[in-house]
Amino acid sequence: MNIVTNLDDWLAIRKTLSTVSIGFVHTMGNLHEGHMSLCQQSKQMNDVTVVAIFVNPAQFNDANDFDLYPRTVNQDIALLSQHDIDYLLLFDANALYPDDYQVQINETETSAVLEGECRPGHFTGMLTIVLKFLNIVQPTRSYYGEKDYQQLLLIQKMVKALFLPVEIIACPTIRAEDSLALSSRNSRLSPDQRKLAAQLPVLLQGVANPEHITLTLQQLGFKVDYVTDKWQRRLAAVWLDGVRLIDNISLER
Ligand code: AMP
Repeated sequence: MNIVTNLDDWLAIRKTLSTVSIGFVHTMGNLHEGHMSLCQQSKQMNDVTVVAIFVNPAQFNDANDFDLYPRTVNQDIALLSQHDIDYLLLFDANALYPDDYQVQINETETSAVLEGECRPGHFTGMLTIVLKFLNIVQPTRSYYGEKDYQQLLLIQKMVKALFLPVEIIACPTIRAEDSLALSSRNSRLSPDQRKLAAQLPVLLQGVANPEHITLTLQQLGFKVDYVTDKWQRRLAAVWLDGVRLIDNISLER
């Protein structure tokens, strides 16, 4: 695997890749099987797979969450190498934000609800960094998880609105044996919290309505930001102490 830390070096390499199909997987690192399922799909569908790891300051509305976000780059490099990834991009914030964060992408409708309401500015930061990487990598296809369903909808919407020449591939949520969606933030849960967290997908997949699920989660000790049905999904965001978890399931049966 080629590890590229300098943006100009990557732009020179990219010029040599004009005749191959490129799959791109955009991550914040602390990689797990969820991320690797995106890589797997990319490898199956493209000649070359490019992965980026960048913990994007602009999409964290909470400085504490940014500071505590797990950073495990050596472990991530080992995992990506085992999976025969072609390029890993590790750029720093100075290179990615030459404008000092003054140019941002703003969507006004899908981003105004749920995650957007709970995390002001999050989706503007997310769309901005996704657009930057799509321009830098110019992939044929780019892979995103249904785990972050509202994010996926917004990326699809941006690609359509801005006529970006890339195919967006949606990938199913990968779960642990007890059904908890894999997430980098799970590593911040204590063993007891980790057990309790598995109740979230179980309740979402059950027969109760969102109001009832909210009450049950609160009785179990979760703080609930929302449980709601929208976009043919049941979506939820909850807290266990300082750790925020999101999940969603399809309502198309
Ligand atoms: P992150 O590093 O959390 O920003 O995630 C990078 C990409 O991996 C995003 O497209 C996520 O939706 C996707 N992803 C994260 N967790 C999972 C999971 N459990 N299953 C499938 N995709 C995931």
